[in-house]
Amino acid sequence: MPLYMDYNASSPIDSRVLDTMVDVYHNYYGNPSSHHQFGEEANRLVKHARSLIAEILSVEPNEVFFTSGATESNNIVILGLARLGREKGKMHIVSTTIEHKAVLEPLKYLATQGFEIELVPVGSSGRVEVDEVLKRVRPDTLLVSVMHANNETGIIQPVEEIGQELSKSDTYFHIDAAQTFGKLVEELKVIRFDLLSLSGHKIYGPQGIGALIRRRHGYQIPRVDPIMWGGGHEDSLRPGTLPVALIVGLGKTAELSAKEYEERRVQNRKIRKSILKQLQNLNHILIGDQEHAISHTLCVSFPDINNEALKIVIKDDIAISNGSACTNRYESSHVLTAMELEPRIIESTVRISWGPTVSLYPLPLEKMSTIIANNISSHN
Ligand code: PLP
Repeated sequence: MPLYMDYNASSPIDSRVLDTMVDVYHNYYGNPSSHHQFGEEANRLVKHARSLIAEILSVEPNEVFFTSGATESNNIVILGLARLGREKGKMHIVSTTIEHKAVLEPLKYLATQGFEIELVPVGSSGRVEVDEVLKRVRPDTLLVSVMHANNETGIIQPVEEIGQELSKSDTYFHIDAAQTFGKLVEELKVIRFDLLSLSGHKIYGPQGIGALIRRRHGYQIPRVDPIMWGGGHEDSLRPGTLPVALIVGLGKTAELSAKEYEERRVQNRKIRKSILKQLQNLNHILIGDQEHAISHTLCVSFPDINNEALKIVIKDDIAISNGSACTNRYESSHVLTAMELEPRIIESTVRISWGPTVSLYPLPLEKMSTIIANNISSHN
């Protein structure tokens, strides 16, 4: 098996999370909406998981709504605010060019429905500037949506400063925290967001579960309409039978993250240092402002080495990605394109992402080194 280094696409599940889920599948199969002992037991588990997620984010349990993941949470926020925007004549939305497609695509849809969408450009640092966002906010701006850390570059965005300013206005602030939930734990506790999307499978939890956090903005709860209708679950915001085992898995992963995030970060930094040392002799360029990079991602270009070819040659040794897993593999990365990098850099960039359990040394980089060395000599 190749070494898995694509944790930003999806991380392996923690065995402690899995064991908890298996117990639920075996023993707590009731529907949490049912009014009998089985339903009540399942409901108690859901309630506990909700409180664990609330705790790690410093929010109230009734501000947590379970969804299938960050894609769905982003869609509910963006599409679900549209009716309010129309009613209030606030049909302007600000976001950035480097957002995940799960934000950009629903925004594109709203643009076809009469909304004005402004995407703030981002330079080669990969980090949006606070002033560039704030100067676009107008009295008719319904929403500002900025991701916390970019999934391709790992660059952390200045959401704390943006949230601070927006909390004084009546524009809602949404952050897509798919890549930082359970990782930048202290940071997320202090950010003044109104709406936040999170996912389980980037943080050693199960795939197919996430949450939307909706908080009071001043005295008001943002009126987000559902995008699906059904049995009134999750305060009618997200109907459908609650997947108890997945929810318990998400709660367990939040609980473990709250205890372990610091030591995970230390280990991730060690791995990062080790990778950088091993790359030392290879011609490479780190993408984005490394001062603001998360500890477990390296976005790196090996100039003149085609990333698709490189991935294929090393596929038996190491599994990495070029760009986002959610983008068509033959499409150039919209994030790197938005950063206005030269095409030869974009086409030679790969993303390496990991977690604390990846073994430190050595990375199976021999083939990569050979290709890169050969390519360099053939150019000389
Ligand atoms: N937003 C960001 C920044 C992501 O990295 C991802 C996953 O790749 C998503 C949203 C989508 O998350 P999910 O897979 O939970 O729908």
